[in-house]
Amino acid sequence: MTLPTSRRRVVLLGATGSIGSQACDVIARFPNRFELVGAVAGSDGAALAAIAARFGVARTALVHAEPGAALPAGCAAGMEAACEIAAMEADVVCVAITGAAAIRPTLAAIDAGATIATATKEVLVMAGELVKARAATAGARIVPIDSEHSALWQCLRGEDPASVSRLVLTASGGPFLRRPLDTFASITPAEALAHPTWNMGPKVTIDSATMMNKGLEVIEAHFLFDAPYASIDVAIHPTSIVHSWVEFQDGAVVAQMGIPDMRVPIALALADGERLPGVGPHLDLRDVSPLEFLPVDGARFPAVALARSAGERGGLAPCVFNAANEEAVTAFTAGQCRFDEIVPLVSEALSAFHDHGASSLDAVLAADAWGREFVRTNTVGATVAR
Ligand code: MG
Repeated sequence: MTLPTSRRRVVLLGATGSIGSQACDVIARFPNRFELVGAVAGSDGAALAAIAARFGVARTALVHAEPGAALPAGCAAGMEAACEIAAMEADVVCVAITGAAAIRPTLAAIDAGATIATATKEVLVMAGELVKARAATAGARIVPIDSEHSALWQCLRGEDPASVSRLVLTASGGPFLRRPLDTFASITPAEALAHPTWNMGPKVTIDSATMMNKGLEVIEAHFLFDAPYASIDVAIHPTSIVHSWVEFQDGAVVAQMGIPDMRVPIALALADGERLPGVGPHLDLRDVSPLEFLPVDGARFPAVALARSAGERGGLAPCVFNAANEEAVTAFTAGQCRFDEIVPLVSEALSAFHDHGASSLDAVLAADAWGREFVRTNTVGATVAR
């Protein structure tokens, strides 16, 4: 087979996680379209070595290499090495590192002027203003992988931004949409990790159960599409067929639909908006009828309104919102706080936080550390007392 010379050079950050693995599936499926030239993983050296061998990746790095552990051949270690790979010459840098750990390599890729295909909503939430300013300076574009934002991107293509009246993010409602509210205190990590429609990594799955995920996505949408918070809405849609929709000023509504499969938004982002054949499963709307939509119950899911208020407050409040949530999810999965304490902990952190208005990377990292410390201080040994 003769390969065309127009293959897109891909750097993959977070190569061994859920999104990273599915990105590898897409790259392997279209070898004449994509070339994996750099890969970074968190701590799974064996999985990274397998990816390097499978794709003949030129450069790899492991962020958290255990002291003395054998690295894959040619693999560098540490965050600085990860940032160097993020800044490699590439057509697209796919960011699939979970959580706030993605910020330094994302900024390195942006500063190098690459197109960023991001699955890590936390980076935009914690540092949206900084990320957008740096992207404007470097001429870097940011395209979404998150399924809802990919849907909005698709619905908005070719449209005049001034003609948009509302962006509506859909949410499955997660595993606890119909669970009696008075049993939320006894929800276990295993129950919260069983998502009904999407197969995802553990952090985003817990976030889906609290709907913190949708809260983070409201803030992500604000930054990705320059949309005021008043024009971003959330609807529950349990089967996740409609991935989001846009309402236009003339009354028209455009929705993007599909059988849930992250490889579709991943492929679309890696190909910079070009549609590749046969990526996802076939959808016939007659097979999924009727489609159900519900309003968000604010008593059951207070995370969405909390995110909106953090977003509207602006500055470093979304950063604290994200940091406190990440730490509360860690505490919950470690048995150090209850499921129904996650959102109140984040709310308490936001109430206690005083923003000093700076928007440098140092200020972002300081606010991130403050939010984490607040939650740690309020959860260690606190479950019994709360
Ligand atoms: Mg999503």
